[in-house]
Amino acid sequence: MLAVVPPARPRKLAKVPFVELADGRLQGVVSSGSDLDRVYVSSVTAGTHAYHCSTNNNRPCGGLRGAPCKHLVALADEAVAGYGAERVVRYLRIDAGDGVTTGADLLARIDGRHEPAPASVVFDRFLRHLAYLELPGSTTPLPELHWFPSTPLER
Ligand SMILES: [Zn+2]
Repeated sequence: MLAVVPPARPRKLAKVPFVELADGRLQGVVSSGSDLDRVYVSSVTAGTHAYHCSTNNNRPCGGLRGAPCKHLVALADEAVAGYGAERVVRYLRIDAGDGVTTGADLLARIDGRHEPAPASVVFDRFLRHLAYLELPGSTTPLPELHWFPSTPLER
């Protein structure tokens, strides 16, 4: 049995429904602030610190203008909340990682550049993660998921 480590801080599921340290990246899914049906896939690569953000349909994020966008900040925030700053700093191989307490701190310490990465891998993992979520039987709408289209997912 794997021990379940409680998150360092409660996670904001509505804003960042999926975050993981996997494939050599901090990556995840961030919901759009304005459009409930739109999500962004954001990632930061360990070591090079190259970052990317796009919609799940690979449309580039308009907020990336030579610097990480607000989705990347939200993702980094949630990673720090969920994994603890020390673990994220170590995973991304950030040298001056002392004193990181927020996502903005984390992103201020990376010097990578924007490098496009396909969103589909991360988004597929997110959909699988959703499928595996064991939700208690209930007809009450889940506020965490209400941005997600109510049409059935393609299998
Ligand atoms: Zn973005």
